[in-house]
Formats: sequence, C-alpha cells, structure tokens
Amino acid sequence: MSVIAYVGLGSNLKDPAAQLARAVMELACLPQTTLLAQSPFYASRPVGPQDQPDFVNGAVELRTSLKAHHLLDHLQAIEHAHGRERLRHWGPRTLDLDLLVFGTETIDDERLTVPHAELANRDFALQPLLDLNPELELPDGRRVIQLRTQCPDNQLRKLPPMAGTD
Ligand code: AMP
Repeated sequence: MSVIAYVGLGSNLKDPAAQLARAVMELACLPQTTLLAQSPFYASRPVGPQDQPDFVNGAVELRTSLKAHHLLDHLQAIEHAHGRERLRHWGPRTLDLDLLVFGTETIDDERLTVPHAELANRDFALQPLLDLNPELELPDGRRVIQLRTQCPDNQLRKLPPMAGTD
C-alpha cells in the first residue's frame, strides 16, 4: 500500500539551490517511490543563529510504499552523501531533509516525529507544502493554509526556477 509523503529540503552551504536540485533528483530515484511534484524554492532567513547565510528551502510530494522509518533511512543517506556537516544546533548545513507529512500517520518515537514537530512554526516548510497541495490537512485536522497564516515570518522570497528543474 502506498501513501503520499511530503519531504522538506533545506540548505545554506555550498550552492544551496544546486544542493536542493540534486537532492530532488535523488529522491526521485528512491526505490518504491515516485516523485509526484516539486515546489518552488524559497530563500529564507535562518532560524536560530543569525550569523550564517540565508537558507534555500523547498518540498517535494512523493508517492511511496516505503515505511516511514525506511524512508527516513534514505533521507539520512542522501544527507550524508551531500557531505552534511553540522557544527552546531540550528547552524549551517549542506542539506537537511525532513519528513514533514506521511499520509495520515502520526508517529512519535525516538527517531521520528511526524508530522514534523516544528512544521507549524516554519513558513519555509508550510509555504512549499501549500504550493504542492493547497488543500492539505494534518492528521489532527489542522489545515496547512491556516497554519501558514499564523506562523512566524522568515522573510520568504520565491526564487526563479532553476534551468532544467521546471
Ligand atoms: P535535524 O538535523 O535537526 O533535522 O534532526 C535530525 C534528527 O531528527 C534525526 O536524528 C532524526 O531521527 C530526527 N527526526 C525526528 N523526526 C524527524 C522527521 N520528521 N524528519 C527528519 N528527522 C526527524
């Protein structure tokens, strides 16, 4: 049985938009998974320490028959393949992949919280989700469009489409 999953992407090191574009291609190649859609990319001010470059963020919509934890294994493998370094909490990183929503499942264990625990506070995750699915609701019935109007402002700026990714 397959589910629709939404994965958030973020980077603020080593050509962030190119990191995201490559990650989207890698997500499209995951086993038992189809890439259904890709959001625009956005530039955003960092959460936490401000002495770091702006982030580039986006999200993808996948259909997958992987289990959620198995999908997380793949997301972490892709992060590592991008040479992810994380020197401090909320510091700069080459690639961050978050499992934002996984069908109608609610998960809360030592490895995985889904929907993502910070989703409601992150316009740079909510806006790409809305671009992908304006009707999207979380398993608890909250509408993403409603959360977007209430969440803190990270000064999102939509980036022009990258050549070859539109
Ligand atoms: P971060 O680098 O801040 O994204 O945190 C990575 C850690 O968050 C990993 O240890 C994951 O196991 C954990 N984690 C919990 N929930 C999620 C989620 N929904 N998506 C990605 N990582 C998650």
